Amino acid sequence: PAPVLAVVGRPNVGKSTLINRILGRREAVVEDVPGVTRDRVSYSAEWNGRPLTLVDTGGWDIDAKGMASRIAEQAEVAVEMADAVVFVVDATTGPTATDEHVVRMLRRAGKPVVLAANKVDDERGELAAAELWSLGLGEPHPVSAMHGRGVADLLDVLVDVL
Ligand code: GDP
Ligand code: MG
Repeated sequence: PAPVLAVVGRPNVGKSTLINRILGRREAVVEDVPGVTRDRVSYSAEWNGRPLTLVDTGGWDIDAKGMASRIAEQAEVAVEMADAVVFVVDATTGPTATDEHVVRMLRRAGKPVVLAANKVDDERGELAAAELWSLGLGEPHPVSAMHGRGVADLLDVLVDVL
């Protein structure tokens, strides 16, 4: 069976956009407005001839309990089922309290994590991406899910941790 990659992170960081970029088609639903309830969805992808299953964790219920706990709960189920995790952070906003919350969950889960610093649309964003070293998850990989910048390098790193 194809290894499973869970794509986690808070709403609006570009998880679904990244998945569409990897798939090469618009299949995951991209939301301009955060907070729309959605189930976890799996997609079959491939990189360098290796099959991968990508799990989008867009599911999020804005009414329930408070944002941080809900996002973590969603992400946690996907992470439990995954062989590795892509943690997507918005490099243009820097790490938020919610990002830190997800980091703690990821530490407990103990799965290999690759940190994607998204929305680095040009080289000016690289500096902001480097600030994500502070999350303590190792090297932040700058990508622009929207334009494709850095995504091939990210995928190379991902298949290496599998
Ligand atoms: P998700 O909630 O994490 O799945 O985020 P989405 O994929 O739905 O994207 C949220 C918003 O961020 C959308 O308006 C996207 O177009 C935008 N976005 C996603 N990736 C990028 C990127 O690499 N650069 C920029 N500038 N915007 C992005
Ligand atoms: Mg989404």
